[in-house]
Amino acid sequence: MNKHTPLALALFSGGLDSILAARLVQDQGITVRCLHFVSPFFGKPQLIPHWEKCYGLNIEAIDIGDDYIRMLRQRPEHGFGKVMNPCVDCKILMMRHAGSLLRERNASFLISGEVVGQRPMSQRRDTLNVIRRDGDVRDILLRPLSARLLEPIAAERDGLVDRNRLLDFSGRGRRSQLELAEQMGIAEIPTPGGGCRLAEKENARRYWPVLTRLPNPGAHDFELANVGRQFWAGTSWLALGRNASDNQELERLTRPGDMLFRLCDFTGPLGLARPFAGPWDIQVVQDAAALIASYSPKAVQHATEQGKPVSVRVEICGGEKTIVDAVPSRRTGLPWGMPDFIEVRDAIRKECLATFAE
Ligand code: SF4
Repeated sequence: MNKHTPLALALFSGGLDSILAARLVQDQGITVRCLHFVSPFFGKPQLIPHWEKCYGLNIEAIDIGDDYIRMLRQRPEHGFGKVMNPCVDCKILMMRHAGSLLRERNASFLISGEVVGQRPMSQRRDTLNVIRRDGDVRDILLRPLSARLLEPIAAERDGLVDRNRLLDFSGRGRRSQLELAEQMGIAEIPTPGGGCRLAEKENARRYWPVLTRLPNPGAHDFELANVGRQFWAGTSWLALGRNASDNQELERLTRPGDMLFRLCDFTGPLGLARPFAGPWDIQVVQDAAALIASYSPKAVQHATEQGKPVSVRVEICGGEKTIVDAVPSRRTGLPWGMPDFIEVRDAIRKECLATFAE
């Protein structure tokens, strides 16, 4: 970078608005470095090389998982959206992080793709102001797609950015964005929405028990919650691979003290148990082994035809191994399952009086 070229940092989700916002500023001759925030709940760092080529941007991944989970543990001040998405606190956290990088890298201002009135929770005009204030980015946050509807920031007043070349988009429609993308020659338009697991009901069922039953959940716990089939019985937590790639992922996520369950003589799911509340009783181990075996058709067939249990090897990561006999069954003594979404939603409402619709 030429030392006289101003540097701006852009919050980059990979969505169309974030692409357009970064390009609008970059097309004014300003160097833009895009920050793609990653956590167990969002982020696709594997797409960065593709995005860079496709959109002509310079992008880096920034892991904010630990900070994000701290915010969830303390509960978001502005509540959750329709599912488990704490959009306002999420944006404040990202702004704060981006603001500290701005100071560290001596950049001039931040860019975000927010559009006034686009989302009921996090992009209402008053909420945009809250995000700017609580994110500590007053006067340094440029929202190029709606800038002409908002007060000019220092970079506009100082002439670093030409405000006349910024836009006045508002509302939920995407027509203006699509037209702008066409003018910019952007051929690959990302599909709207998606990308945040916290906004999906199925994932809230995975995450809520982790957040509320583990004493001090970390990013690795939520990563485990993302994989395969999830089962809970009180504080006993078990994840089962649905296919070979889940099984590999479970092996990768194994930590000291975890228990790995494998069928000895049949192909089938790998089971990973995380006994965070103390070692499991042998009855719980046997129960889990029976459940795991029930997801192997060959083990089920064998046990039915021969009238005999199958063997399951249980290995404590960094510790002992044992073999248990199990009759494959999904009707075990313990009520293995996941909370349904209504249950999760009611628990969220009870805990956080301030909830919003997103
Ligand atoms: S949808 Fe997810 S990533 Fe997007 S603002 Fe909300 S919580 Fe953050």
